[in-house]
Amino acid sequence: MLQKYLDRFNNEPYGPLLPANNSRFFKTLVSIGALFPAKRAVRSQCKVCGAELLRHAWTYDDQSLICLKCGGKVELWQPLAAARVREDWLPAQLSAQLADAEPVCLVPNRLWRLATVSMGQKNVSVYLFRYIWTDEVDQTIAALDADATERQVLLTTKRIVPAELSGNGRMAIPLVKVARIEREGLVTSVEQLESAIALLDPNPERSTPAGRWFELSDDGSVLRLQGEELSLQRKQRAFALAIAEAHDAGQPRPRQSWVLRRAGYSTKNTSISQICSRKEFARFIDWKNGEVAIRRHLLPPA
Ligand SMILES: [Zn+2]
Repeated sequence: MLQKYLDRFNNEPYGPLLPANNSRFFKTLVSIGALFPAKRAVRSQCKVCGAELLRHAWTYDDQSLICLKCGGKVELWQPLAAARVREDWLPAQLSAQLADAEPVCLVPNRLWRLATVSMGQKNVSVYLFRYIWTDEVDQTIAALDADATERQVLLTTKRIVPAELSGNGRMAIPLVKVARIEREGLVTSVEQLESAIALLDPNPERSTPAGRWFELSDDGSVLRLQGEELSLQRKQRAFALAIAEAHDAGQPRPRQSWVLRRAGYSTKNTSISQICSRKEFARFIDWKNGEVAIRRHLLPPA
């Protein structure tokens, strides 16, 4: 639901009216404050310049509506209910949930500093970037440079983000990876933010590698632990390599869903025996609480 909302939030010009209906989507967004309640609206088309516009209007206003572009006479369509996106809702919610803070707008309608949070030994400034396809990102990058902080994380309103936004201690993460909308409102997970940062961050000095207590061959075919070896086949190799990759990025216990996706498995796999039916496998790999890890100590043979 969050991405669907963000698609509206990303509309240009900012804050247009959205034709409303009785769907769960609309009801939830209004009840949590992400949208203003729907009100009567009319769509008008200018008889002179052709401009089309949807705007709130009372019945008694209809006769006096004129084109906002050229002042010409307009033709009105059937009235409908429409709601407006509450522009301050998203940045305010994110700031409050990340650090009990208030957002600071750095580029109007585009970029907000949400909060500064500490992760590992570093302070990380978190931003919301409302990214529009047609945008030049230069202005955003200049604003981020001017706001110099040790590390910067941009939460973006689109799933795909321009590559130039990452690098030099800065990284962009789609907001939908760390937040979701539920019936009660926006839910932001600092934990998911931390693991997203750790997994994205290729620079070992910026993370806190715990040091490997196991050996994994480069192709992932052999895992060695406490002098014993486990041989791995096909996708199991990708599975072990993914755990090791997260491990090196400072996440020795990555989420099962991330590892499964990374290794090309369906996230519907719910038990370790679906990855490998050999009992041996579970002696080396720990799988619980939604996380997966390479064990520090081998389990005794079954
Ligand atoms: Zn006009």
